[in-house]
Amino acid sequence: ATQPYDDQNIFAKILRGEIPSKRVYEDQWAIAFHDIAPVAPIHILVIPTGRYVSWDDFSAKASAEEITGFVRAVGKVARDLGLVAPGYRLLANVGQHSGQEVPHLHVHLFGGQPLGPMLV
Ligand code: 5GP
Repeated sequence: ATQPYDDQNIFAKILRGEIPSKRVYEDQWAIAFHDIAPVAPIHILVIPTGRYVSWDDFSAKASAEEITGFVRAVGKVARDLGLVAPGYRLLANVGQHSGQEVPHLHVHLFGGQPLGPMLV
């Protein structure tokens, strides 16, 4: 079972504007901002505005509207950043084995250079 959502997690604070972030996108369903420790020339995090711990939680509990809104937002961020033609990579860590650090669903968006093979 997924842990309960913690309103004090760092991305909850970013969502509420209590901690600064370099936002590149926001709408009703999602916000996107630069990762504080980028591992690619472009490294953006896209998070839903709803309180979901992870992809597991979101895929099981979010409404169809929330899911559609979030998925569309991820695609729009990539398009707005001009990443479709060169290409990009999406990644979501879920839980302990993945090393998920922040317990609010986030999709990593990587781009800006050839990304090489997936490690796992
Ligand atoms: P995870 O390992 O949970 O998939 O990824 C968490 C990501 O959040 C990491 O890439 C980390 O650099 C990023 N991160 C952690 N704290 C902050 C923060 O306060 N601001 C921003 N913009 N990114 C953060």
